[in-house]
This record gives sequence, structure tokens and C-alpha cells, in this order.
Amino acid sequence: MELTNISTVRELLSRHGFSFSKGLGQNFIINPDICPKIAENGNAREGYGILEIGTGIGVLTKELAMRADRVAAVEIDKRLLPILDETLADFDNVTIINEDVMKCDLHRVIAEQFGGLRAAVCANLPYYITSPVIMLLLESRLPIDSITVMVQKEAAQRLCAKVGTRESGAITVGVNYYGTVRKLFDVSRGSFMPAPNVDSAVIRIDLNDEILLSDEDEKFFFSIVKSGFSQRRKTVANALSSLMSIPKERTYDALASLGLPATARIESLDMQQLIALSQELREKE
Ligand code: SAM
Repeated sequence: MELTNISTVRELLSRHGFSFSKGLGQNFIINPDICPKIAENGNAREGYGILEIGTGIGVLTKELAMRADRVAAVEIDKRLLPILDETLADFDNVTIINEDVMKCDLHRVIAEQFGGLRAAVCANLPYYITSPVIMLLLESRLPIDSITVMVQKEAAQRLCAKVGTRESGAITVGVNYYGTVRKLFDVSRGSFMPAPNVDSAVIRIDLNDEILLSDEDEKFFFSIVKSGFSQRRKTVANALSSLMSIPKERTYDALASLGLPATARIESLDMQQLIALSQELREKE
């Protein structure tokens, strides 16, 4: 079945009485060029198990299943299950997991579904939880090589920004802490059904093998980063004092020992400075 043919998709959806849920970010890909490109750029190949988040009617799932050894796809909307039974009927290497990705035990899914294979994530992410999903994938330290995802263009810009610039955010620090990120290609809004109000882009994160900080130090580092960015217009000392009750003097001392001014804002610190600041503050805890 041609899942990028508009009349085929309309007929399929109406036969199943399916209506799109805006709340679940349901914009399905109908441009035939996109899914093969995501799969080819996202490690969907022999020797790999691919974890997909949000199947829709299976347009990307199919391309992944054609190339990778196995696909495990987490989809929250149970109304899509009978549709997927039909659209993925030719594939015996796909497992659909009807769960909320934010509550799913992804370590277990990878271990059970991909035993012995390398693993990677590919998805056209539901936009309302782009950052939480990416942070979840990174923070859970899943045994995956890469995360290749479609996100809104603005989210792609933030993800691919340089740490230490105004364009950066907590998510920028997150991806650069755990790996390296790059934009692969832009996707226009007309490539989806229904068309969203914004354009999109596909990005790829390659995960580092090395672990920079211990678990406890890492938790502390991300509380500093998240607090700092949630009050990014304030000085880092003010933000950490109001959100983490860290006395301002302690932050001033830590900044001074790194040669940074007391007025520094989180968005002006590069990756090394952020890590050094959190280590200084932790030592003085
Ligand atoms: N991969 C399909 C495509 O490209 O056409 C669908 C992508 S659509 C942008 C996002 C999909 O994620 C929808 O099918 C939606 O039901 C699903 N979804 C939304 N929230 C989810 C969640 N918390 N956990 C798992 N799936 C979710």
C-alpha cells in the first residue's frame, strides 16, 4: 500500500473512521522523498534494531523495516493499531508497543527486541514533546548509536545552536553533553497531512561512548543548566539562588575562580565553563 498517496491514505483513514488528534501532534508524512531519507541517514541497516517513536499509519516504520533487522515502534494512540495491522502486514520484523513513550521502559524494549543488534532511534516526533523525548532518550543512557528525528524548524535551530550563544538552550547543552548534533535537511510544511503551521527539519545526534561526569555530578550539572535556562534573562547567580537556593556568594566565588564575571548569564557560558561551574558549585555544597 502506498502510504504517501493522498487518496490511498484518505481512503484508509475513512475506512477505519480515524480522525487526526491535534493534541497528539498527528501530522503524517505524505512526501515520498522524506521517509527513505530519514531511514538511510538514521542507521536503518543490517545489524541494527531501530526504535521508532510515534508510528502514525506506519509510513516511516515501513521504510525502517525494509532496511533494518528489527523495528520496535512505540505508539500511544490505540486507534492506529488496526490500521498498522493492515499497513505493516507484509513485515514480520516490526513490533508495535501501544504505550506513552514517556512512561515506557525503553531499556527493556531494546533488550527484549534487539538482543545482539546495535540500536538507533528514528522518528518523526510529536512536536508537543520534542524536547522531553530527546532529553529522556539522552538521560536514560540507552545503548543506542544515534537519534535521527524530525522536529520543528525552530527546535532544530535550538538543538543545533552553539552552546554559549543566545540561540542555545538547555536542550542544546543536553545534546552537546551526550553527543554531537547536526542538521540533515529541511522539510516543508506541505510534506505532511494535515499540514502544520511551521516547517520542519531532520537532525541527527551521534552519541558519545565516553561518560563525562559521574551520575550524581551529572544530575547536579543538569539541575544547574535547567534552572539557569529557565530564568535565562537573569544572571546565573540570581537564577540559581531563586531556583536552587544556592547562595549568590557561592556562585560569585565559583564564577570568579573560573575567571568569569559575577554578572554572567547561563547563555554566555560554553560547554567547558558550564561543566566547570557545576563542579565548582558541587565541591562547595
Ligand atoms: N511517524 C508518523 C509519520 O511520520 O507520518 C507519525 C508522526 S506524528 C508527527 C507523531 C506520532 O506520535 C503520532 O502517531 C502520535 O499518535 C504519536 N504520539 C504522540 N504522543 C506520543 C507519546 N507520548 N508516545 C508515543 N507516541 C506518541
